[in-house]
Amino acid sequence: MATLTTTKVRNFIGGQWVAPTSEAGLELINPATGDPLGRAPAGSGAEVDDAVHAAHAAFPAWRATPAADRVQFLFKLKSLLEQHLDELAALITIENGKTLSESKGELRRGIENVEVACGIPVLMQGYSLEDVAPGIDEIMVRQPLGVAAVITPFNFPLMIPLWFLPYAIATGNTVVLKPSDRVPFSAARLVEIIHQTGLPAGVVNLVNGGKNAVDALLDHPLVRAVSFVGSTPVAKYVYARGSASGKRVQCQGGAKNHVVVLPDADQETTTKIIADSAFGCAGQRCLAVSVTVTIGEAKDWFREAISSAATGLKVGNGLDPATQMGPVITQASRERVLSLIGQGAEQGAKAIVDGRGAQGAGSFVGPTVLDGLPASSPLMETEIFGPVLSVVHAATVEEAIAMIERSAYGNASSIFTSSGAAARKFRNLVSTGNVGVNIGVPAPMAYFPFSGWKGSFFGVMHAQGRDAIEFFTDKKVIVERWPREWSRKF
Ligand code: NAD
Repeated sequence: MATLTTTKVRNFIGGQWVAPTSEAGLELINPATGDPLGRAPAGSGAEVDDAVHAAHAAFPAWRATPAADRVQFLFKLKSLLEQHLDELAALITIENGKTLSESKGELRRGIENVEVACGIPVLMQGYSLEDVAPGIDEIMVRQPLGVAAVITPFNFPLMIPLWFLPYAIATGNTVVLKPSDRVPFSAARLVEIIHQTGLPAGVVNLVNGGKNAVDALLDHPLVRAVSFVGSTPVAKYVYARGSASGKRVQCQGGAKNHVVVLPDADQETTTKIIADSAFGCAGQRCLAVSVTVTIGEAKDWFREAISSAATGLKVGNGLDPATQMGPVITQASRERVLSLIGQGAEQGAKAIVDGRGAQGAGSFVGPTVLDGLPASSPLMETEIFGPVLSVVHAATVEEAIAMIERSAYGNASSIFTSSGAAARKFRNLVSTGNVGVNIGVPAPMAYFPFSGWKGSFFGVMHAQGRDAIEFFTDKKVIVERWPREWSRKF
């Protein structure tokens, strides 16, 4: 089986790998085996300062590099990521726990963003109009901002850095990446591969650490933009602290996603798709379904069908190709999820499939289905972030839409039906930024924005596609008059 080639977590600053000044951060454990993998550094203001200065020093030359030349590094990056796909997927699986096929899937979504960013010479263009007044022309150009900080969570160790980094550098910015301190190895390997493209020193830098490193980035006067993905309380904090010092900030937060199943939904595919959404990546996807709302007679078949799908899943080490669901990220996370299942039972739900007995040295929780959680239960509003699906019932689609409206989150929702009219009404009225129609994980492709709403997003421009280009550039409007063409008498 694949193993790590290093247990040392290092920073990459100004084109050099450097040892962190302290290793006093989290102990890193393989979530499937319980084996130690190393220790994450706590991170320090001094390291962040070095990385930001390296990025700032690289900015003038990088900004002046023609866009068509900048994207040549991304073409190379795409090809290297394809070449190293198996190795990178194994690395994600070792430190995050998801299955190999999920790791490959995440990397494919990341590579898609590199591909889209290769189109920057077209996508970054502004616009112009001649003769806005006689002899006067007006031109809008987009220019890079400077140093951009990218702060990412544990659940997609490579895809989420790639939601931002390719666009930031293709538009002429330089970057300091601060990956999750629970999965530092995949990001380090990504940066090694980026370095292999020959990208000039300082354009991409890596600092490791937790809150110390994040705070230092948020307060640093040379950081112009911050892209963050993580839990809602931290997203709110990062948004407030980063904006307070005038930075441009985009923060994607947590989620509590609902799917609505109508009686006319195709039973077999609906069940398979919802099971994959709820239990895939051990429920640790920000688009994972957490609550299924059955309407009318869907109540009769869905509970039995989803219970049998959940019970049949093979839980184990994601490196084993037969495994269908891996562990959750840490033992602490496992304890939290087990306790939330217990609270669900205390608050009136019945665990019709109970994953609390899952065995193994790793942090395993089996697929769990909670039936009949009351609407008033605090668990209805809690992001569990584990393989736990609640199933509740509503009389009508309108009632389900109102239930979603009451949620503090707005990341995603889906409807399963064969009725175009019901689907259209749902997608028109529902209060989430990503919507699926017969789709369990409505993850936008790289050329669409990843559009969370409400407590799932803080900011204006989202990740990916055209939003990313808007986010990483400033608009400049030039109004020109030439002496030969005097258009006004003074
Ligand atoms: P997290 O909030 O714990 O950590 C995210 C990042 O913030 C990490 O880099 C971490 O080191 C840093 N951080 C943690 N605590 C901090 C603090 N107090 N101050 C400053 N920085 C801090 O998130 P996580 O557990 O790594 O990831 C899971 C969460 O991310 C879930 O809530 C999930 O829904 C969310 N998520 C959202 C999306 C989305 O697109 N909306 C995508 C993926 C994950």
